[in-house]
Amino acid sequence: MKRREFIINSALALGGVALMSGCGKKEVKKAENQVVKRKFDNLEIPLIALGCMRLPMRDGKIDMVELDKMVEYAMEHGANYFDTAYMYVEGKSENAIGEVLKKYPRESFFLTDKNPAYLVNSPEDVHKIFNEQLKKCQVEYFDNYMVHNINKNTIKNYRDNDMYGELLKLKKEGKIKHLGFSFHGDPDMLREVIKEHKWDFCQLQINYLDWEVINAKELYEIADEANVPVIVMEPLRGGGLCNLPEKAAEKLKDDCPNDTQASFGLRWVTSKPRVFTILSGMSNLQQLKENIDTFTNFREFTEAEEKTAHEVAKIIQSQGAINCTACRYCMEVCPRGINIPAIFGLYNVYKSNGNGFMFKVNYEALKENERADKCINCHLCSKNCPQGLDIPALLKKVDAEVKVAADKR
Ligand code: SF4
Ligand code: SF4
Repeated sequence: MKRREFIINSALALGGVALMSGCGKKEVKKAENQVVKRKFDNLEIPLIALGCMRLPMRDGKIDMVELDKMVEYAMEHGANYFDTAYMYVEGKSENAIGEVLKKYPRESFFLTDKNPAYLVNSPEDVHKIFNEQLKKCQVEYFDNYMVHNINKNTIKNYRDNDMYGELLKLKKEGKIKHLGFSFHGDPDMLREVIKEHKWDFCQLQINYLDWEVINAKELYEIADEANVPVIVMEPLRGGGLCNLPEKAAEKLKDDCPNDTQASFGLRWVTSKPRVFTILSGMSNLQQLKENIDTFTNFREFTEAEEKTAHEVAKIIQSQGAINCTACRYCMEVCPRGINIPAIFGLYNVYKSNGNGFMFKVNYEALKENERADKCINCHLCSKNCPQGLDIPALLKKVDAEVKVAADKR
């Protein structure tokens, strides 16, 4: 080989090695304070993660400058887990987070994405969407990947198109490291889905209010008993638990003066040991800093604080809430199968946060035959209610309110 060729070849070879080792990528500077981590499949995962559903916006577009700063701050503090999905921010979340993360070595962050069950009409769709997502995120694999949003409306798509089987093929090819699902169905459906396949994890909506008023406790316990690791979504109920009714806010401040409403809600979730990370949608650097601070100066959630959470949830419920304890005794006798505790639970959340739009959305997610307007006024339920509630009258009230609720946010 001539001398000139040798020099060129050597330079190319060196360049190649440098590229493979991450040359040209942004260096992650480690801050002194790192967020606490939990084990998941021998990995150290940050307990707080950036959910990319509510990204910073400016003039109707994603604010890439702010997002860049947020990702940098998160990476420096060890919060290197990012969760996006096909439809987040009208389909633009994947591009945005991909554009920011491409500056970092791939092995320095965890990236999660989801295959939208409601858009999948054939097994080929699973792959078409997946390949599109890889391109949008500018990566060659996802660390965690999910069937997105299994619920009563999407479960048929998920099963008929064997989404699990198709995604398993991608896992075997190394394009998915861990395979899971996100879930918005009822406990019986969760039991079925968990039994159907060998999942690496599941993603559930869990927070201290849903624990009391809907079915988060039951969902968590089902996953826990099945040894399925849990990712938590909506730990602050879409921000509702950061905007507490006055009395609830006072109670929290009196009992836990060192907490903000957000830090209290996030710390409550950490008391569930099966949870390995908590997704929080953060819309600006300030929110991110506050959340990271909660997990760098981490304090374990105590039994006394658990009592406070219970009491705060009760106060929230008391804001015009229906005094239903979700014991389900009424369900044992209702000839129409009306989902009374779920209806009252949703109504109570609405009374606490005033979000009529979400009330209507969640209410309409119930099966039609389980809704309040299917009640035939037989009063069998009331006879069984330990709280002495006039259930048919309350169902009428809820039915009337849900019809006008959508205008109230
Ligand atoms: S009154 Fe309505 S809710 Fe109660 S048992 Fe009869 S049908 Fe069911
Ligand atoms: S019996 Fe009463 S308290 Fe129990 S779930 Fe039904 S409405 Fe709620």
